[in-house]
Amino acid sequence: MNKENNSKSVIGGEFLLNEVDISKVFIIEDFNEDQRMMADSCNDFLEKEVIPLAEKIDNKENPDLMPELLTKAGELGLLGLSIGEEYGGMNMSFNTSMLIADIVGITGSFSTAYGAHTGIATLPLKYYGNDDQKEKYLNGLVSGELKGAYCLTEPNSGSDANSGKSRAKLSKDKSKYIINGQKMWISNGGFADLFIVFAKIDNDKNLTAFIIEKGLDGINMNPEEDKLGIKGSSTRQIFFNDVEIPSNNILGNREEGFKIALNVLNIGRIKLGAGVLGGCRGVIDHSINYSKERIQFNLPIASFGAIKYKLSNMIVKTFSCESICYRAGDDIEQKIKEFQVDGKNLNESELSAIELFSVECAICKIYGSEILDYVVDEGVQIYGGMGYSEEAPMARPYRDARISRIYEGTNEINRMLIVGTLLKKSIKNEINLFKKATKVIQDAKLKKIVYSSDNHFKSSYDLVNSLKDCFLHIFGKAALHFNDKIKSEQEVMMNIADVIISIYVLESTLKRCQKIYLNNKNKIMIEISKASIYANISIIKHHSIESVISYMDKNDARKSIDFINSCTEFENFNIKEVNRNIANYFLDKKSYSLFNNFK
Ligand SMILES: Cc1cc2nc3c(=O)[nH]c(=O)nc-3n(C[C@H](O)[C@H](O)[C@H](O)COP(=O)(O)OP(=O)(O)OC[C@H]3O[C@@H](n4cnc5c(N)ncnc54)[C@H](O)[C@@H]3O)c2cc1C
Repeated sequence: MNKENNSKSVIGGEFLLNEVDISKVFIIEDFNEDQRMMADSCNDFLEKEVIPLAEKIDNKENPDLMPELLTKAGELGLLGLSIGEEYGGMNMSFNTSMLIADIVGITGSFSTAYGAHTGIATLPLKYYGNDDQKEKYLNGLVSGELKGAYCLTEPNSGSDANSGKSRAKLSKDKSKYIINGQKMWISNGGFADLFIVFAKIDNDKNLTAFIIEKGLDGINMNPEEDKLGIKGSSTRQIFFNDVEIPSNNILGNREEGFKIALNVLNIGRIKLGAGVLGGCRGVIDHSINYSKERIQFNLPIASFGAIKYKLSNMIVKTFSCESICYRAGDDIEQKIKEFQVDGKNLNESELSAIELFSVECAICKIYGSEILDYVVDEGVQIYGGMGYSEEAPMARPYRDARISRIYEGTNEINRMLIVGTLLKKSIKNEINLFKKATKVIQDAKLKKIVYSSDNHFKSSYDLVNSLKDCFLHIFGKAALHFNDKIKSEQEVMMNIADVIISIYVLESTLKRCQKIYLNNKNKIMIEISKASIYANISIIKHHSIESVISYMDKNDARKSIDFINSCTEFENFNIKEVNRNIANYFLDKKSYSLFNNFK
């Protein structure tokens, strides 16, 4: 039913309509030697300079420690991966910067400080700074001489970020802005030299972004927040009382602040998806090793099915998260290149490409943050009582993981954004969802997907195509029923978002499994793909049914449920054996590593 897209690059959200050719799906195994060397040198830095200090960082024994580590990262070039060479940066490809975010992810608090500095604090200047502002600040942010923070959230304005009360007033002689306001939860706040601050000028409807240097009269801070996790990262409340800044410290145009905030958050979201991976691999490796060493009932606990089940699920989810993040990262990268060929400059190309893939960025953020919670939780469980002790390497990752579902837009807001964006794109005819959904609804013929083990991947893609029809059915039905009122039916929107996420996860996982399998015939790829099929079918079925029974009358709901059941009916693999095979494979390998899992 779904035709392949033969154009050069993929379009954001298009995965819901078309089957993409395997050659267009980038997988982690595709990284070249240069990129792997960059990953190695970043790993070296973390292993020598950051990881041994994890406890000290967490205890905040020395408040200078975090800024010193950022300075060292700057000396190695790690703060300027996405910045042009004219400002001392490395101008690396989008997916290379994803790879570095992935590796840094293992460091918890440092990862938050690094992400806040290189992402939400530096990128507004890169994309919206004028030449003077870039000259003045970007070099320092890249070298690490300057540290940055991003001040959007306020006590009464979190998810509803554009409702902030901070105000900017132009002085009578127009030479200065006077800023008043209170910002909350500001990462790097305690040591930042530069604050990107969002405030409304006079009675404007929308925010404007400003650059504020530290040390000015009127800037005050509360003490460091006492947090649940990432305890070593600086998080402050900052007060701006009649702070005077030069009027040319406005960033971008008046009332462009919300757009700036959202655009950098899109980048932050996909990087957060990648940023959980290092942490997941660390926890998996500890879990593998501990489960082989810990003896109970005269046997290593790794020999128990219950532990194998956990290890397998932790690994498959991490594998899937890698699959979606690097697929989406490369799709963005290819689009950037295409826009450049069409005549846009690099910054414009990057911003347009990221915006185009905002749905995929949100998917990576949600899926990554939720599998991280799963992985650390099962990691603690595998360690038993020791998992609850600060002596074992599980307590800190467990605490540090929880923030990821909250910042860079909560997962609820991101779920709403996925469906809202697709609705908007459909209304504007940028993507043909309504037309296809109408066809699927009218055609309502029940599906019958036949599985053939001789043609495992082909049958699996038949399944994915029918899952896409299932999505089109529930999406189209909800849009028809609620029309423009759908936004107040958040439960249904969340259901639809979960179906979308699972389709992207399953398809990306299958493509990666197939690509590796075609290369080396490693049978474990069949097992991983089966585990992913099993997990995602049940999520899709559950949320599809929940969405239709939330508003349809019994008769219509019955017809929809029959259709959903037919779309999600597939071969019953022996999932116990599948999970045992996956766990045994990695127990033998003793690790789930970045690059060498399937050789
Ligand atoms: C450790 C840490 C570091 C941070 N770093 C920064 C930083 O550097 N800079 C910065 O500007 N901010 C930062 N933040 C703030 C962070 O981005 C916000 O906490 C987040 O956006 C949520 O806002 P809130 O806390 O006000 O929660 P609220 O918006 O009050 O949300 C509370 C709950 O209600 C839900 N909710 C809210 N609105 C809706 C809606 N319309 N529909 C459905 N559900 C809804 C949310 O999903 C959430 O579950 C940080 C926060 C923390 C904890």
